[in-house]
Amino acid sequence: MLLFRITAGAAAMIWVIYAIIPTCYYRYLHLNSLDPSADEHSLLLSFDDGPDENYTPQLLDILAKHQVKAIFFLPGFKAEMHPDLVRKIAEQGHQIGFHGYQHRNPWSMGFFHTARDFHRGLAALKRLGIKPYWYRPPHGTITLGNLLLAKKAGLRPMLWTVLVGDWRNIGGDEVLARLWDKVSIREVICLHDSGESTGGEQGAPNGTLSAVERFIPQALAGGYQFIEPRNGVCNENADK
Ligand SMILES: [Zn+2]
Repeated sequence: MLLFRITAGAAAMIWVIYAIIPTCYYRYLHLNSLDPSADEHSLLLSFDDGPDENYTPQLLDILAKHQVKAIFFLPGFKAEMHPDLVRKIAEQGHQIGFHGYQHRNPWSMGFFHTARDFHRGLAALKRLGIKPYWYRPPHGTITLGNLLLAKKAGLRPMLWTVLVGDWRNIGGDEVLARLWDKVSIREVICLHDSGESTGGEQGAPNGTLSAVERFIPQALAGGYQFIEPRNGVCNENADK
């Protein structure tokens, strides 16, 4: 019984060090948010889980209309499904980030499964001529394992500072209201342009598109600027 308790306690401690602390470090301390030297009214738009044949082209049109650049975090399997859309995203001057292959939560996979998924996803992007700089683990869960993989691949983690639950079908008005409720200064905004294929609710991106269409001009009128998602735009010194 004592041996069982010691083993269970050691396993729990290892899990805390391996998964809980790294995720909290990035997600809640916001150390990987926009670089503090950026103007206070800087916003970075990021879109996860695409490309989607229905929603992503509409989103690209909205961004082009307002001349705003964003970063798209693509799971490898989605990039393989829509190679033409991946190229279109890149051709329009947006940056492409890495979002794993299968979009499975790293907490649900052992290190070797995570490594296989990681390398398979990177290879999928490489075949399309994409060499990503930023890495957003699926579901925003970080482990020492995927941090190590990212470092070896020369990738930098980027999570978010604003998340509004737009993977649920809550409608554009609610997405917009939640954005304005959360946006303050130097935000990395995480939205989703893909539906149920990565766990979102059917039709949810319609709300995202409707909100983005209104949010961009409102933010610009309010003195915000949307910054280019270039390398070094985040506080990269935070985890050195
Ligand atoms: Zn995702």
